[in-house]
Amino acid sequence: MEKKTSPNATPAFCNYDNSDYQDAFWGEGRRAYEDRSEEIAFRRLLPEQGKLMLEIGAGAGRNTLRYAGYERIVVMDYALTQVQQAKARLGNSPRFIYVAADVYRLPFVNELFDGATMIRVIHHLSELDPAFAEIQRVMQTDSTFILEYANKRNLKAILRWLGRRQKWNPFSKEMTEFVPLNFVNHPKTIEKLLKKHSFRIEKTLAVSNLRIGKLKANPANLNWMLKAESVLQRLGAGFKLSPSVFLRCRSVETKAKSRFNHFFICPNCRSYSLSHQLTKEVCQSCGYEYPIIDGIYNFRVNPEDQKHID
Ligand SMILES: [Zn+2]
Repeated sequence: MEKKTSPNATPAFCNYDNSDYQDAFWGEGRRAYEDRSEEIAFRRLLPEQGKLMLEIGAGAGRNTLRYAGYERIVVMDYALTQVQQAKARLGNSPRFIYVAADVYRLPFVNELFDGATMIRVIHHLSELDPAFAEIQRVMQTDSTFILEYANKRNLKAILRWLGRRQKWNPFSKEMTEFVPLNFVNHPKTIEKLLKKHSFRIEKTLAVSNLRIGKLKANPANLNWMLKAESVLQRLGAGFKLSPSVFLRCRSVETKAKSRFNHFFICPNCRSYSLSHQLTKEVCQSCGYEYPIIDGIYNFRVNPEDQKHID
């Protein structure tokens, strides 16, 4: 994985292109406990039904099939190779729209989605404020946004800090970059930012409460760990001492209905005038061309992988 850089600068974030993240991180049941903990959280947070969901940072589609109530899902990741893996897993279906794009420059019209999720993503974003603003832009009034964040004020971090085995203070409100492009955030900071961008938190769950290497090492522990996790998700929600926190938020920004019957916009200049061609979308305003490769829309604004026809 590498640092994503862009000459006309959106904030830095981690690019998982050409990474074996799916196998290396999730493979062979190494994180069965975390994966199943998230499944429990989703069951408690997802609406029973919805029309169009935006999955931000979908990776290889590990969670996508869990959004069973949604008629259609935009499976989006910045890393094109991750989207390719997601497509290989989920297949060619009118239910899935595959998009490679940047959360700071979403290639969608305003108020398009009635649902969105962003799981295990913001610990790779160097700035949250513009990301939340951009997500709110594409959400309808009253839509559901499920957000996961890595909680800096978790029990393990507090104990390490008290034992002087960790330098950074888990109680400080600012974001901490503990290794390059890996950030942890304070619950209060996240809550404040969500409020600023008109997301009302409806439900909080403390997730992956038993992320303890020694326990996870023995697969025989999985069943009882998940039973305990199920209880702790609700019990711990008020304390928020878990390494991961899931929130169900509702967009409470009142918006006028979108005037246009469009789906995509140009992420470079925000124009609605995209012309759909067989193998690409072409912006009539700025000239950017966005290739459609094997059914995947590549809306990354990056001169290295986009042709510019000024
Ligand atoms: Zn444009």
